Amino acid sequence: MPLYSFVCIDCKHKFDELVPVEKRGDVICPKCAGAADRDFKGAFAFISGNKRSSCNGSNCSGCSGCGGNH
Ligand SMILES: [Zn+2]
Repeated sequence: MPLYSFVCIDCKHKFDELVPVEKRGDVICPKCAGAADRDFKGAFAFISGNKRSSCNGSNCSGCSGCGGNH
C-alpha cells in the first residue's frame, strides 16, 4: 500500500497514512474525524517555481508571461 500525505479540511492537521488506492477519498482526520484531503503542497510549489522563467526584464521577445510590457 502506498503512503500518502493528507491534510484535514477542518483543523488543518497533517498526517501520513497507508491507504489502498481505492480508499484515498475516504480518509478521515485522526484528531477531529473530519474529512481529509490529499496534501499537494509539494506539487504546487514545483509548478509556481517554473512560471515566467523566460523573461529577463530587458528582452521580452521570447517571453509569454509579461506580454512585452517592460
Ligand atoms: Zn481534523
